Parts: sequence; C-alpha cells; structure tokens
Amino acid sequence: MLKKERYRAFVDYFSTHQPEAQTELNYSNPYELLVAVILSAQCTDKRINQITPVLFEKFPNPASMAVSTPEEIFQYIRSVSYPNNKAKHLAGMAKKLVEEFNSEVPSSIDDLQKMPGVGRKTANVIASVIFHAPAMAVDTHVFRVANRLGLTKNANTPLEVEKQLVTYLPKQTIRNAHHWLILHGRYICLARKPKCEICPICQICRYYNYQLTATAINKAAAIQKQKAKEKKNRIDMSPLVKVLEKSTTKE
Ligand code: SF4
Repeated sequence: MLKKERYRAFVDYFSTHQPEAQTELNYSNPYELLVAVILSAQCTDKRINQITPVLFEKFPNPASMAVSTPEEIFQYIRSVSYPNNKAKHLAGMAKKLVEEFNSEVPSSIDDLQKMPGVGRKTANVIASVIFHAPAMAVDTHVFRVANRLGLTKNANTPLEVEKQLVTYLPKQTIRNAHHWLILHGRYICLARKPKCEICPICQICRYYNYQLTATAINKAAAIQKQKAKEKKNRIDMSPLVKVLEKSTTKE
C-alpha cells in the first residue's frame, strides 16, 4: 500500500467515525489545561482528572500558584507520577507566566517551551488544543500507533514522527489526528497486546499485514514440513509392503 493511500484511508476512517476528537483531560481555561498537561506526563488522564478539581480550587489562576511553594503544591499532586519534580515545574511555570507573560498562556511554541516542565510535546498540545494550530504532539501512543500503522517510516524519535506526520497529513486534520492516534493507542492499539482482532483499520496497518504475512508463511512452512514427513514415511514403508506382498503370494 502506498503511503499516500494509507494516509488517505486513515483520515477517511477517523474523519467519518470520530470527526471531533477531544482531549480527555478536564479543564476550563488555558492555564488549567497547561497545568493538567504538565501533570499528565507518564501518568494517566484519569488520575489527573481525579486530582485537578481540588488543585484548581486551591490555585484557580497563575497568580495564586506563583506565590505558592513546590512543597505546598506537592500536597495536592502527591498521587501522580513524579510529584516532586512536577510540583517544582508547576511553581516555576506559574511564576514565569505571571512575570513574563502577564498571566496569559502564550500561543507560540517557542514561548511555551520557555516555561519549566513544558517540552515540545506539551507546547504542541497547548498550541493545538487552545490555539488551534496545526501542531502534532507526539506522546508514547502517537509514536507507537503511527509507526505500527505505517504512517511513519524509520522514525526513531518523537521529533521525526512529528515531522513525518505533519508532512503527510492534510493541514486541517493535524489537530484531530493527534487525538485519533492517542485514543486509538489508549483503547485499541495497546502497547503490549494490540487488539488487532477488533481494530477497524487493520486493513491499512503495516504491522498487522506483516503479522498476517508472517503467519501465512509459517503456516505454509508447517504444511510443507508435514507433507515431506508423510512422503518420507511412505517411502520408508515401501520395502515392508513389498515383503508382505511376497509372503502373501507364497502362501
Ligand atoms: S491492526 Fe493492530 S497493530 Fe495495527 S493499528 Fe490496529 S490494533 Fe494497532
């Protein structure tokens, strides 16, 4: 299948079945999304949604978080992964927002990355979700699913995956494609055991088709082996049959 055809089929399927894909993180303004995305690194959205209501109540805006300490923030985020580092990042991020960006979340990916705890992936999420920029945030799901499907080739880093996806996806679909890949990875194309048997896009998946080919080859090899064995058994039996035939004739 040509790359172009694979991309077209991917976009066609999800545009029809999931036209408005959304983040599963709960938020009500850009600041809250920024906090939630920083917290979500190597943690589940479900866990983040459990702790953010109380966190946002305590720190409803950048100013309130900027005057707090990492130790105070830690109390509210202790159940997420890496709470010490994330508490430091949130305190630093809030200070930066207040001091350099007038408490407004900036729209530029470069400005976003100036804040503690904000790498390229987080900056792309904010640019895409809040500012509707055609930015592709590559997390572990996007990385894995894009590679398995064959949307990317020989892409060994998140940046390479991002570049290839942005090059081949129609610009207006990039924002949604980020969510399509994440949700597909979260619920169907699981890391350890992808649910290929219920995957609606298995026909266009490079990994799936390789697996099918490999299974077919193994099956064919097993049949050949069995046939050869049967043939050998037949040959080995022939002298015995002849002896038996002779003795029967004599009698
Ligand atoms: S067919 Fe399997 S490997 Fe391919 S995208 Fe679907 S679940 Fe993932």
